[in-house]
Amino acid sequence: MTLKTFNRGVHPHDHKARSANLPTEDVPLPETLLIPVSQHLGKPATPVKSRGDEVMPGELLCDADGFVSAKVHSPVYGKVKRIVQQPLPGGRMSDYLEITVNVEETQTHRWERREVDFSALDRTAVVEGIQNAGIVGMGGATFPTHVKFSPPPTAEVDTLVIDGVECEPYLTCDHRLMLERTAHLIDAIRILHRGFGFKRILFGIESNKPDAIEAVTAAAAAVEEPSVEVVPLKVKYPQGAEKMLIYAACGRTVPAGKLPLEVGVVVANVFTLAAIGDWFFFGKPLIDRVITVSGDGIAEAKNLRAPIGTPFADLAAACGGIAETVTKVVAGGPMMGVALPTLDYSLTKGSSGLLFLTEAEVPDESPCIRCGRCVDVCPMNLTPLKLAAYAKAEMFAEAKRHNLNDCFECGSCAYNCPAKIQLVAWIRYAKNYVRVHKI
Ligand code: SF4
Ligand code: SF4
Repeated sequence: MTLKTFNRGVHPHDHKARSANLPTEDVPLPETLLIPVSQHLGKPATPVKSRGDEVMPGELLCDADGFVSAKVHSPVYGKVKRIVQQPLPGGRMSDYLEITVNVEETQTHRWERREVDFSALDRTAVVEGIQNAGIVGMGGATFPTHVKFSPPPTAEVDTLVIDGVECEPYLTCDHRLMLERTAHLIDAIRILHRGFGFKRILFGIESNKPDAIEAVTAAAAAVEEPSVEVVPLKVKYPQGAEKMLIYAACGRTVPAGKLPLEVGVVVANVFTLAAIGDWFFFGKPLIDRVITVSGDGIAEAKNLRAPIGTPFADLAAACGGIAETVTKVVAGGPMMGVALPTLDYSLTKGSSGLLFLTEAEVPDESPCIRCGRCVDVCPMNLTPLKLAAYAKAEMFAEAKRHNLNDCFECGSCAYNCPAKIQLVAWIRYAKNYVRVHKI
């Protein structure tokens, strides 16, 4: 079989064997949750609970502030202890609701399945449901999903592409989801199809997950409608990026600076899909997720289901603790993730990985040898070495002129750089500077 893919890209070692075969486990319920009001792209949500308020699972903690924003709900029974300001991974500051968890009561809570009246579902009901559930892109982008599913009236969206690619090394939570909740994912596709009547539904999965390809194919065949076409993809990074995935799955090219809607496509990650199903079939908003904890510096790698707001230290403890040899902690995958200075952060809707890397996994940087390999692999046809050099020299306007903002921080250039230069870190720095100073 010829496997589909996109142009350029890289082939990093996938480091997935450590956790790919490990079923998802529930983390022991933490005593405290730290839930940021800003877990999405767009305006931070506004707290509707104050210090001392009692909360219960699924109850609204923060309301969306405008259309491009997302609601935040409580995962537990407990009490709001206080609202504090802390940085998010990446450095931006956010208010956090600190919740003291009533562990015993929360353990007794169950989300019961409910009947869905498909005949009453139209596009408005589907989008409103997604909005009420506080769902955001869970592949890492964290763009509010109801916005993505609200195309302008002039846009003709005919294709849904499901992202089951999980091309970031180390991460295996999407893979486990496709194996463990396959029928649920197909049910969630049925919900979306009611609202949009897609002409084509493509489910992209890389060929290093043959068991997931098989499971999704079987689950899709078990339902009469809609027809879901599983598209096995060649293993290549960054195939999970929307533009790369759209090209790989259906051969359409999203123009630079434009959205997938321009070519009639909407993309949803598998966890986003699962969250949509959770709302419609269980009435459960987005209050927990699965995260892969891995790397040579953690005692036991795991795929852990945890409430939003679980402190990273609790996740590390649930994996048997951290080795002394850890030199770098990364939130997310090694390609697009963010290095953390401490463990004082907590699980958010977009947290797909927490990596504890040792020296052998984090090589030292040396000077640029002008080999051009970073240019060869950039899927956006950028010149990463130049962008990094402009960032180092604080020539931000020049960097912008060289299409700095087209970089979607996939990390392919840094991965392919023999000098191990932190190209993405420099580019990210320049992008932040350009944004903050409105250059
Ligand atoms: S410049 Fe940006 S888009 Fe291009 S390879 Fe590097 S991180 Fe990816
Ligand atoms: S890949 Fe690294 S060493 Fe080669 S040109 Fe790019 S920045 Fe320089």
